[in-house]
Amino acid sequence: MNFPTNLQGLFIDGQWSAGSEHLRVINPATEALLTTVNGGDARAVDQAVRAATAAFSEWSKTTGADRGAILRKIAAGVQAAREQLMNVQSSNNGKPLFEAAIDVDDVIATFDYYAGLAEALDAQQDNAVQLPNEDFSARLRREPCGVVGLIVPWNFPMVTTAWKLAPALAAGCCVVLKPSEVTPLPELQLARIIADAGLPKGVFNLVCGTGLVVGAPLSADPRIAKISFTGSNAVGVQVMQRAAESVKGVSLELGGKSSLLVLKDADMELAVELACGGGFFNAGQMCSATSRVLVADERLDEFLVRLKTRAEAIRVADPFDPNVEMGALVNQAQYQRVLGHIDRGLSAGARLLCGGNRPADLSRGYFLQPTVFTDVPLDSALWCEEIFGPVICVRSFAAEAQAIALANDSQFGLVASVVTRDAETADRVANDLQAGLVWINAPQVIFPQTAWGGYKQSSIGRELGPWGLQAFQEIKHVIRAV
Ligand code: NAD
Repeated sequence: MNFPTNLQGLFIDGQWSAGSEHLRVINPATEALLTTVNGGDARAVDQAVRAATAAFSEWSKTTGADRGAILRKIAAGVQAAREQLMNVQSSNNGKPLFEAAIDVDDVIATFDYYAGLAEALDAQQDNAVQLPNEDFSARLRREPCGVVGLIVPWNFPMVTTAWKLAPALAAGCCVVLKPSEVTPLPELQLARIIADAGLPKGVFNLVCGTGLVVGAPLSADPRIAKISFTGSNAVGVQVMQRAAESVKGVSLELGGKSSLLVLKDADMELAVELACGGGFFNAGQMCSATSRVLVADERLDEFLVRLKTRAEAIRVADPFDPNVEMGALVNQAQYQRVLGHIDRGLSAGARLLCGGNRPADLSRGYFLQPTVFTDVPLDSALWCEEIFGPVICVRSFAAEAQAIALANDSQFGLVASVVTRDAETADRVANDLQAGLVWINAPQVIFPQTAWGGYKQSSIGRELGPWGLQAFQEIKHVIRAV
């Protein structure tokens, strides 16, 4: 795919413009320069926040039905540009085209879902609250929390944006969005669709740029009511610290170290498919990657034989190859980071079952073989830290309680998966796992209706569902003497 050069990286107060910061955007499958984007700086952040603040008084008073109509237009615009958006995602992020299609469909579903919630808001506004005392009446209002800053990562660029932007606009908030400097192209494309959807100027603003130059001033700006951030824990902590200065709300979606539990009665073919899906989808660059696989003692040998065979057969290739199963990692830094984890895992005594290298037929691009380790020490970085690459660590367990303890023994608690033929066991285990979402015998399907977020250091708050909307609302009660 060819991109125009020197793309304008600012959309502020309804106008596109070029900022002073020069971002180089790479195709991770070829290492070639895709294009350059002229992003912004602290001054652009200031202008964007000013525009959003000016737009807020009118936008916050629109009806839910009006906002829902615009969200439906955005969903229709994304649907119309589906192919183009898939191509942009695969070119900029390195994910296979079939994965990019899942992302675009998720974005459409998210905007449609929050259009419905926005439309439903009008009937809920000013509803009477039952009081125990007849001398007073009370009504409940849900109001938009104000101007919000949305900061997103590179692994699911358009999806993480939609999960924040759709509920923020549905609630009646005005927005300043900062995409990842690694993958600004999907958001630039999405922003063009949003710009054509009929939003008043200043309601949606976009500032491309790096974390320190754009993300940091956005997090600190006292005019912003809330920051919704998805990214690494290290940066999430910095965002929270900056936001604390002006006591602004924060929603954080951070890292994970999730487990797939294969119980003794599991369907092994299904278990292997789910292990590969949870470990190698998006080249493992998922906060929800089930990078720990826990297998019942008596089924371990069989599982490892099947997993090795399947992992070695996965076709790693260019994202546009019609037979691709796994694409490229996003950039040189991420590639080196994952290779470093593999090296340290070997030094720590973990046993490499398969993978660990660049595929022999791919001499350039950030490609890595699907990698499986066994005998991983419990105190090693490989077992404890988020790897964010196509690397699975397998361990066995003797009893259900031990599997649950191993899965819960983490600073994170984002998701988990359970594979068993016994429905009662599945529910019992799911209930004991410290995770915001548990899949039973299912791939990592996500619906706008179910919440996204986790326990412990994985998250603060929840996205999607009504909880995703509430994150951008203030609750107001009005009590009157009668
Ligand atoms: P990152 O933390 O490096 O960057 C995320 C965003 O923050 C980017 O837009 C970046 O420019 C910006 N940023 C960087 N420094 C900043 C600063 N000082 N102040 C404000 N903003 C700053 O993360 P990444 O490498 O882009 O993404 C990978 C991480 O994201 C992984 O840890 C992954 O687990 C996490 N993630 C979590 C979820 C979830 O839902 N929990 C989803 C996707 C990714």
